[in-house]
Amino acid sequence: MTLAVPQKIRVRFAPSPTGYLHVGGVRTALYNWLMARAMGGTFVLRIEDTDVERSTEDAVRAILDGMRWLRLDWDEGPDIGGPVGPYRQLEREGLYREQVQRLVREGKAYPCTCAAEELAARRKAALAAKQPLRHLCPCREQGPTTGRRQAIRFHVSGQETVRWDDLVQGGIEVAAEEIDDFIILRSDERETPVYNFAAVVDDALMGITHVVRGADHIPNTPRQILLYGALGYPLPAFGHIPLVLGTDREKLSKRHGDVALQDYQAKGYLPDALVNYLVRLGWAHGDQEIFTRDELVAAFRLEKVGSAPGVFDHAKLDWLNALWIRQTPAERMADLVAPDSGQPVRRSPAAKRGGGFHRKFLAPRPAGAHPVDGRRPGHDEQPGEHGAATSRRRRRSS
Ligand SMILES: [Zn+2]
Repeated sequence: MTLAVPQKIRVRFAPSPTGYLHVGGVRTALYNWLMARAMGGTFVLRIEDTDVERSTEDAVRAILDGMRWLRLDWDEGPDIGGPVGPYRQLEREGLYREQVQRLVREGKAYPCTCAAEELAARRKAALAAKQPLRHLCPCREQGPTTGRRQAIRFHVSGQETVRWDDLVQGGIEVAAEEIDDFIILRSDERETPVYNFAAVVDDALMGITHVVRGADHIPNTPRQILLYGALGYPLPAFGHIPLVLGTDREKLSKRHGDVALQDYQAKGYLPDALVNYLVRLGWAHGDQEIFTRDELVAAFRLEKVGSAPGVFDHAKLDWLNALWIRQTPAERMADLVAPDSGQPVRRSPAAKRGGGFHRKFLAPRPAGAHPVDGRRPGHDEQPGEHGAATSRRRRRSS
């Protein structure tokens, strides 16, 4: 399948400012940015900060600074505004409540006053009686209990299967009966919308045409598709890019080494080397390894991203970084390496190997530095961290 669509594409990167910017997230941002730049589209940056306990302004700054350092510029976002702002979810809560109330008025959502312990007890009883774990909340039939705080639950109805043609993973299908009525607005003081609801309202109102994000979001997508239908919004195309794994094939985390963008920035990696490394983690263009930014914009196609997870290979990153250092005139280095940090730059092992930036010979090509062959895995490697319906998947047809 191709992304040939008549309208201008609009894509987004929507990080939560709850910690450092993970290099896996950077790759998601990069793929979205490349799609927008390759197709004359719009790249939107949205900050998903409804988790007020964990979100910090420092993390917001780290995201914006990191993206600027990588030269992944955005056309609309929290600092520059745009026609469909605001671009921080915390400033959009009125919009979510408006849409929730509309669903309730239309009979597509209902108030729920079940306490967590009541739901847990019914679940336990259903398990013991070997009954299905659906419909544990009686509020739709019985009405909410007065005097209790209300959450709002979305009613799943009328559809046998939810399916979509994923731009990366191929066709994915989930039986609607696997999806129970789910909470869209919590009963807390702030009436916080759940992630799936806020993301759908934002993507729809911001006119996002292609939702390209990590494969850990696949379990969210069936619920989101049902919400698009109920809200009457046109469905975007979805593309779920495989996760970045460590050498033990577990999701890349701190125990595999540095995962925060700022660690690479601080250690003297060049932004172009990092971009060059990350783009190749799951995408190939013949056997070309080194890409300038212009070459990437010209060559990148999302449908060429394989569905197999990429394994983060520090040796290959060091090799690419050394190549980029040798290609970069010495007078430009000071601008590229950790700008604005005011800190003395610690050089990466690769940068040190690069010596005076102009060593004559190349570092040996590491074993992992061969082109991605685009093979598809025969099984799902889906961590499903958002816990949801299981999905059956067909290989992509094209
Ligand atoms: Zn209930």
